[in-house]
Amino acid sequence: MTFKDFDLHPEVAKGVRIAGFKEPSPIQKEAIPIILEGRDLVGQAHTGTGKTAAFGLPILDRIARGEIERALVITPTRELATQVSDELYHLGRFAGIRTLAVYGGVGYGRQIALIHRGVQIVVATPGRLKDLYQKGKIDVFNPEVVVLDEADEMLDMGFLDDVREIFEYIPQNRQTLLFSATMPDPIKELADTLLYEPEFISVVGEETTKNVDIEQYYYVINENQRDEAIVRLLETENYDKALIFCRMKREVDRLAEELKALGFNAAGLHGDIDQMERDAIVKSFRRGETRILIATDVAARGLDIKNVTHVFNYHIPFDPQSYVHRIGRTGRAGKRGRAITLASTEEFRELQRIRKEVGADMKLATLQVAGSGSI
Ligand code: ADP
Ligand code: MG
Repeated sequence: MTFKDFDLHPEVAKGVRIAGFKEPSPIQKEAIPIILEGRDLVGQAHTGTGKTAAFGLPILDRIARGEIERALVITPTRELATQVSDELYHLGRFAGIRTLAVYGGVGYGRQIALIHRGVQIVVATPGRLKDLYQKGKIDVFNPEVVVLDEADEMLDMGFLDDVREIFEYIPQNRQTLLFSATMPDPIKELADTLLYEPEFISVVGEETTKNVDIEQYYYVINENQRDEAIVRLLETENYDKALIFCRMKREVDRLAEELKALGFNAAGLHGDIDQMERDAIVKSFRRGETRILIATDVAARGLDIKNVTHVFNYHIPFDPQSYVHRIGRTGRAGKRGRAITLASTEEFRELQRIRKEVGADMKLATLQVAGSGSI
């Protein structure tokens, strides 16, 4: 099966060609025909498997053909709103389709003006979107298709009430789509209340970390060897771009300072950094000007950045799903990646629980650390 089989509008098909997509991914194969028919759909697929284009292409096609005029995509974070809006812009630009990312932390004026000037796809975060609806500033934007993207992350971030409230402002005669990497019960319930006779598609296997493109390793270390271990790994692993996950914002700051002081090209990313700076940091990492990004789980959620060859877990994550989300930042779009976890002896049991729960195929590795033997 190729993209030709979807018989997309020629200008949208051109967008796909220029993007270099050769073959539709499994979720795209299943979801695109259903969405083109105008049906509601719940789609589940691993991170990095092309869910954006799975809903984006049929929406762009339907707009290009004049079947619909406007679509709304709701994403959990500002970074994702920008990323999804950019991807839809690139796929739809030959068809002249205008997209806009809408999120908080910046002024209202420009966003409202652009909406009034006839943007066709708005990609928004729940908070700002709710604001705009409450203020009556987005009534002119009447979407005929609404997408809930990365729904499990919206749940984790506590946005489901906002989402429900937003839907009270949106007319019932709409097409509603929900995409998620995992399907916890609250998401299924949400789909039951917001979608109309949806088609359910899942292209994940039994286990949630069966991404064969990601090699997973773990090192058992002593608590005081953590920094040394990260430095040694950065010296020995041949990374293009590396993402290091910490549990806490101050850990991000501290590690970023330390790595920078050692001459690594690193930057930290977390929610206390102001929006403009966060945008600049992500952009610099995207371009490869920054090679190491140290982030909290929330800050790095859903980010699709090319050529992230390595994900390091400075600490093991708080829960198994975070592990899946974290390592999903690498091994994307068919490229291989390595996910390396540091676990102290105290964390080891927790690590075993994560391995069991997500079926992670992790191998124990050892590393020579100066002065302290192997870890
Ligand atoms: P998800 O939302 O499932 O986590 P994304 O939609 O962010 O994944 O897609 C991951 C990456 O794969 C993006 O860089 C996207 O441009 C790319 N991609 C999507 N579909 C295809 C395809 N059919 N062929 C090649 N690359 C693709
Ligand atoms: Mg996505």
